[in-house]
Amino acid sequence: MPYGSRVEETAAILDVLPGTPGTEAPVDEPRGPALSPSRAADFMTCPLLYRFRVIDRLPEPPTTATARGTLVHAALERLFDLPAAERTPEAARALLIPEWDRLAAEEPELAALFPDEAARGSWLESTIAIMDTYFTLEDPRRLEPAARESYVETTLDSGLRLRGYIDRLDVAPGGEIRIVDYKTGRAPREAYEASALFQMKFYALVIWRLRGQVPRLLQLMYLAEGEVLRYPPDESDLLATERKIMALWQAIERARTAGDWRPRPSKLCDWCNHKALCPEFGGTPPPLPPALPPEGGGA
Ligand code: SF4
Repeated sequence: MPYGSRVEETAAILDVLPGTPGTEAPVDEPRGPALSPSRAADFMTCPLLYRFRVIDRLPEPPTTATARGTLVHAALERLFDLPAAERTPEAARALLIPEWDRLAAEEPELAALFPDEAARGSWLESTIAIMDTYFTLEDPRRLEPAARESYVETTLDSGLRLRGYIDRLDVAPGGEIRIVDYKTGRAPREAYEASALFQMKFYALVIWRLRGQVPRLLQLMYLAEGEVLRYPPDESDLLATERKIMALWQAIERARTAGDWRPRPSKLCDWCNHKALCPEFGGTPPPLPPALPPEGGGA
């Protein structure tokens, strides 16, 4: 993991940033195949999992862990609506309840996660702890993000669209771009860092194609553990990422044509919502839908 002086220097440069508006909205029109980092990661983890999510579109109910991630992302996005001087830990905590109420009103399954107020209160405490840890990693009073929860999309020469939502995009006074992603799960062990960075390189490739500029820094913030993974990509990294994505897409297309979505069991099966339907665990997948979706994955 390159934590060298180039990274530290970049982090310093990017610590004070001017704000520019710029969240790009999705365009809703018929287009070609598309892939997001999460669905690409699904296929790499297990082709059958990809099928369940993209082809069968099986619902996945929220969990307290996914709800915590949703709430923290929402509160951090709102935090930057406040004037810079007001972005304090107290202000961030104060955002949690109203953001939770809004999210629970939009998605009643979230509210149903907690049997009573005590359970919700204890979950909220753990969420407050994560927000507090965020403030040990950076000072939001010194930042003006260029974009938050920003939809990005580009089309490769092959016709494949790459798309997704970037948690935060910072642009330094000199124009250097930093892509920031918040994680509320555990930080990856060293062996999994490459996999964690794949998502970030995917976004960096999209930004490079959109703006003609390689982002200076990719920054994954593991808020539960107070760790930050930083990586300065270069053109060769992103060209390799593009080749990897295209190889992955060809593998997805082969599986789609053959109707062959093989399970690939791993430790992650313990967290798979669709274990009961998986042949590896005695289940039977539903019949494939007659008309397959025209594209390969949502954000
Ligand atoms: S249980 Fe494991 S092998 Fe089966 S679909 Fe889920 S991730 Fe794939």
